[in-house]
Amino acid sequence: MATKKKFVYFFGGGKAEGTGEMKDILGGKGAGLAEMTNAGVPVPPGFTISTEACVYFYKNNKKWPAGLKEEVEKNLKKLEKLLNLELGNPDKPLLVSVRSGAKFSMPGMMDTVLNLGLNDKTVMGLIKMTNNERFAYDSYRRFIQMFGNVVMGIPHEKFEHILAELKKSRGAEFDTDLNAEDLKELIARYKKMVKEEIGREFPQDVREQLDMAINAVFNSWMNPRAITYRKLNDIPDDLGTAVNIQAMVFGNMGNDSGTGVGFTRNPATGEKEFYGEYLLNAQGEDVVAGIRTPKPLSELQKEMPEVYEQLKNITARLEKHYRDVQDFEFTIQKGKLYMLQTRTGKRTVLAALKIAYDMVQEKLITKEEAIMRINPEYLDHLLHPMFDPKKKEEFPVVAKGLPASPGAAAGKIVLTADDAVKMKEKGERVVLVRQETTPDDIHGMHASQGILTATGGMTSHAAVVGRAMGKPCVVGCGAVQIDMKERTIKIKDKILKEGDFISIDGGTGEVMIGDVPTSPSEIIKVLTGKMDAKDSKIYQIFDTILKWADEIRKIGVRANSDTPTDAKMAFAFGAEGIGLARTEHMFFGEDRLPIMQKMIMASTKEEREKYLAQLMPMQKSDFIEFFKAMKGHPVTIRLLDPPLHEFLPKREELMVEITKLELQNGDPKVIEEKKKLLAKVTELHEFNPMLGLRGCRLGIMFPEISEMQIRAIIEAAVEVAKSGMKVLPEIMIPLTASLGEMKVTKKQVVEIAEAILKKENIKIDYKVGTMIEIPRAALLADKIAEEAEFFSFGTNDLTQTTFGFSRDDAGKIINYYVDKGILEKDPFQILDQEGVGQLIKLAIEKGRSTRKDLKVGICGEHGGEPSSVKFCHRVGMNYVSCSPYRVPIARLAAAQAAIEEKKMAKTLKAKKSSTKKVSKKKK
Ligand code: PEP
Ligand code: MG
Repeated sequence: MATKKKFVYFFGGGKAEGTGEMKDILGGKGAGLAEMTNAGVPVPPGFTISTEACVYFYKNNKKWPAGLKEEVEKNLKKLEKLLNLELGNPDKPLLVSVRSGAKFSMPGMMDTVLNLGLNDKTVMGLIKMTNNERFAYDSYRRFIQMFGNVVMGIPHEKFEHILAELKKSRGAEFDTDLNAEDLKELIARYKKMVKEEIGREFPQDVREQLDMAINAVFNSWMNPRAITYRKLNDIPDDLGTAVNIQAMVFGNMGNDSGTGVGFTRNPATGEKEFYGEYLLNAQGEDVVAGIRTPKPLSELQKEMPEVYEQLKNITARLEKHYRDVQDFEFTIQKGKLYMLQTRTGKRTVLAALKIAYDMVQEKLITKEEAIMRINPEYLDHLLHPMFDPKKKEEFPVVAKGLPASPGAAAGKIVLTADDAVKMKEKGERVVLVRQETTPDDIHGMHASQGILTATGGMTSHAAVVGRAMGKPCVVGCGAVQIDMKERTIKIKDKILKEGDFISIDGGTGEVMIGDVPTSPSEIIKVLTGKMDAKDSKIYQIFDTILKWADEIRKIGVRANSDTPTDAKMAFAFGAEGIGLARTEHMFFGEDRLPIMQKMIMASTKEEREKYLAQLMPMQKSDFIEFFKAMKGHPVTIRLLDPPLHEFLPKREELMVEITKLELQNGDPKVIEEKKKLLAKVTELHEFNPMLGLRGCRLGIMFPEISEMQIRAIIEAAVEVAKSGMKVLPEIMIPLTASLGEMKVTKKQVVEIAEAILKKENIKIDYKVGTMIEIPRAALLADKIAEEAEFFSFGTNDLTQTTFGFSRDDAGKIINYYVDKGILEKDPFQILDQEGVGQLIKLAIEKGRSTRKDLKVGICGEHGGEPSSVKFCHRVGMNYVSCSPYRVPIARLAAAQAAIEEKKMAKTLKAKKSSTKKVSKKKK
């Protein structure tokens, strides 16, 4: 008989049915509660409904799986027995919280209901039990408000409006100024409004309340903000959320009670300090929502020294146990401490690096674990500009808030998240200014340079989310008054309109009016020699961790560089060579473009050669600089691959210009010149220039162009080699589709190169290879490898040609596809491993079948995208090549790939040996 599936897991009384490893089933929160219970941490008891129940709910028309109802019933009884309380019993009422909790933390994105179990009768029981009438009515009104909003879908503002009106009529400044009688009145008004809105009474049946709340949590998995959050954080939609039903403890039972949140280390800077905030006589949401400004945890040491010590010990134990920073929630009920939650603390990248580094020094984690804990993509945040300190002095600081997430942001003021998105789409830089943010603002936060809020503490929504996104963020800036009606903000006596510039410093909390210029990050300063490495702690940590990554990774990291300046930067970032120098990009300079244009316009070989001769010394001098910058590492120079139209004026614009000149009786000579240009542009005009006279096709049809470039490369190499430096030129043929193209071009390269080397009487190790950018080249890679000494996958073009998407115009289609789920991701950003990846694998296999030592790399944009870098490692490439600023990202991602592979091999080995044991036993 098949065993019945278990959907509910109990925790309490010192033991739990689940464990900390069961995040898939119990969600992060549920697994944490189980683990804490098992570890003897004081946790209010309860039970967790598994994510599998939620998955079933969505697959089966929002029905509960068979047996779930009975399991909830059974566990509820168990909980009631353990606490000697009962849900709905007016003499000894049990109140519970109902909270979501997915495998991956999604702070504030889904729903929570507190104080469930209260009704007109049990509220009396709560008064009796606690001897605190005000507290009981306050809990009841909070429950109606939350349940009404989250479960019954009544807008929050409707409740807020009634509360504000009552406070006004009672002359109350804070919620806490309302007495028990006021709260009773508030409850009556709330209930009346609920009936008007929904057409039914607020539910008094507590079991009905519980079922409705469980459904609401399941439903909240698919609310728009949760969906957006998952999309932004790459969390799959089909995981589902768990539901945690847990006995309530109260932080609002007087001044010997309280509630707070904290981190075992500072989540903004990574400093090892016990860090957090609390409020006395308050419930959890008061701290997080930022309605009252909380006190730092250090004050708890004075107010409740014993509780403080206990909290510090428990959380230190938790950090050691989980071997990572913990973000915890606690409540003190009449002097007794309860831990409500612990989870891995979100942190800025600055903190992530420092914490990973410190924990290795403390021997808490290994170097490999440290590397796995840093999201490679986030390294980018450290390379962003900060305010230019000199220029900043010209902008007086007009207000100061809490420094919630470091970094400098300057942009136009926007007051709503939707406006932030709209303005960003228009290419504007914006700063989102809000009273406080809620999860509904997440898309606007994402679109903004930074976030400024008037209220809220260091753990408010804006602060937590801003840090996670790496957005500069200043919160709790009381001097900012927002007038949504006038669409203005007032800072002291200054009134600023939407669209005016504002600047914020998330590292200091400072707010400036105007567009404060920014300067490079500290790391960039060190790398460009403007700051001494020993003066920058963050540079030292960054450098050390990347060196650890270099020790571990197997795949090389090169850079795509088009100018000597880029090449120097790339070397400073740790690039081990140049994987792609796009020679056509070297002709965009003011002094070079006219010659290049004339070369393209030339109608005879002789004329073309005249201009090529002018371009040659420029190319050669650039190549010399490249070789020098790379200090003996390989430099891959690609022969010209320009869509020629990019070098000429636009056809339509030229036509308009000529017509205008003619109408205005312009200079006939100028008109004649322009007409000549137009004729050439028309001749070169192609419907899809990206598939036109590009790549090796150009050099084959006009061999003198390649000849000039080959000469420039080899002569530059000779010059550098003669100066005593090692050079490793790699000449790369673009857009090859056939062996024929490869043969012709390679022959030309070798003939020219050998002649120069012979004449100069020098030996230089140079290589000739090709880009793989056309599916046909991948399919015939074995043939092409007979000639090519290396392959470099140009995945920009390979994606274009495999999908049949024009890389210049596909954006619109792709965005639509991603929105509709037709494509999971933009394949121009994240390598399509399933499709394009197959061609890559095939080409590597085939290529190495005819040339064993074939060197293989990638130089499309994907070469600096972490998941694609990991793919390149897995398929056995020798290196990835990406833009200079992404080199650190690629170094870290490559190390992660090596660690993941090692782990996988270990797991496989363990599995194999356990199956061996089993089969031996069977024998
Ligand atoms: C590519 O196609 O991936 C590539 C690197 O070349 P380009 O982007 O210059 O076409
Ligand atoms: Mg290309």
